[in-house]
Amino acid sequence: MAKKATTIAIVNQKGGTAKTTTCENLGIGLAMEGKKVLLVDVDPQGSLTISMGLQDPDQLPTTLSTLMQKAMHDQPVQPGEGVLHHAEGVDLIPANIELAGMEVALVNSMNREKMLKQVLDSAKREYDYILLDCTPSLGMLTVNALAAADTTLIPMQAQFLSAKGLEQLLQTIGKVRRQINPKLKIEGILLTMTDSRTNYGKQIDDLIRQSYGKRLKVFEQTIPRSVRAAEISAVGKSIFAHDPKGKVAEAYHSIAKEVVADAEKQLKRNAERTR
Ligand code: ADP
Ligand code: MG
Repeated sequence: MAKKATTIAIVNQKGGTAKTTTCENLGIGLAMEGKKVLLVDVDPQGSLTISMGLQDPDQLPTTLSTLMQKAMHDQPVQPGEGVLHHAEGVDLIPANIELAGMEVALVNSMNREKMLKQVLDSAKREYDYILLDCTPSLGMLTVNALAAADTTLIPMQAQFLSAKGLEQLLQTIGKVRRQINPKLKIEGILLTMTDSRTNYGKQIDDLIRQSYGKRLKVFEQTIPRSVRAAEISAVGKSIFAHDPKGKVAEAYHSIAKEVVADAEKQLKRNAERTR
């Protein structure tokens, strides 16, 4: 039977909240659960591409920018085109700096918010999950990711609150939902780089849950700070390969299971509704 991927945008316009780390490790965690997973680098900095072990993204012949360009010129994107296979069992559409030029070109194109969705249309049937690693801005590339997504996951660094930043992000998600993608959901906030051993760390955790817990799901499971996790982008492996017994591997594994459980609940709900 043809699959129908759940597309998750990993989004936060603030840099350094562990979007890329979450995209890679949640993706590989999902693959370890037996799911077929495509990761898409939607950041011109190519951080996901680099942390998947491709040291020099600018040398890649085909990237997301190539595919979006095709979509823009109304040319078909073939299934599997530009897709790379990673040793840890996930696929990747890489990106490099050309994507920045693409974002500028989008502004004047017809259907500009839906180019990424168009690129991913055929992949939807090939995968269980498609994860989009978003760039730290609320520009056209992030709007494209939100337009292509079924749900969003918001990694948030457990530090002093950037309440305004989250408000802006929620506004953008709301606007995309109203104008382009009515089914867009919010999976939840994932607290990253937490430090539950200190009182300060615990306080921050509580504060975030109190402030947002009523409106949004805040994953019970958090991602602890660890030196081993900070090393992985340089070694080009996931946390499961680099530090399989560590607490960060355990945390991402648990988040992957929760995401699968949520997606299956959602599918069941949809099936009941259409019966
Ligand atoms: P973003 O994509 O949101 O900019 P990254 O995933 O690149 O964030 O992470 C930002 C920085 O934090 C990187 O240097 C990364 O190695 C580090 N980092 C991410 N997760 C952890 C963690 N659990 N513990 C320690 N460092 C982390
Ligand atoms: Mg990133």
